Amino acid sequence: MLIPARMSEAEEKRWVTVMLDKLAAQESRSVLGDRELTERALHLSDQYYGGRARPGSVRWVTNQNTRWGSCTPSEGSIRLSHRLQGMPEYVVDYVLLHELAHLLVPGHGPGFWRLLEAYPRTERARGYLEGVVAADRLPHLQDAREE
Ligand SMILES: [Zn+2]
Repeated sequence: MLIPARMSEAEEKRWVTVMLDKLAAQESRSVLGDRELTERALHLSDQYYGGRARPGSVRWVTNQNTRWGSCTPSEGSIRLSHRLQGMPEYVVDYVLLHELAHLLVPGHGPGFWRLLEAYPRTERARGYLEGVVAADRLPHLQDAREE
């Protein structure tokens, strides 16, 4: 574990306790496995894109901290950031639909967003994710959340 320098022993103990509680909270959260994630993506594709987007694989990755999702159309593979785990289902669905749309349309032109209009919670999910990014950039907000 990485412990910030200049902590007293008591502070250090408190900090370790908080971190362990956080890890325990993360573990008890139920999260879709990679197989369920792929099934979810196929279901969403059927529901919103008439089944036209057919991903070969959909999986969680932990090395993606600046993007919520990414895809490689030539391989039909989609990767979602583990940071989405524990976020509302409609947000995860939006990111899946976003990446599924890229299997059909590259880039973010009007054709791309027209596909996403089929999903009624696109705007709401985008707002949620923008809020998360904004909160991450404001250190004082982050401190408030830790309390
Ligand atoms: Zn995109």
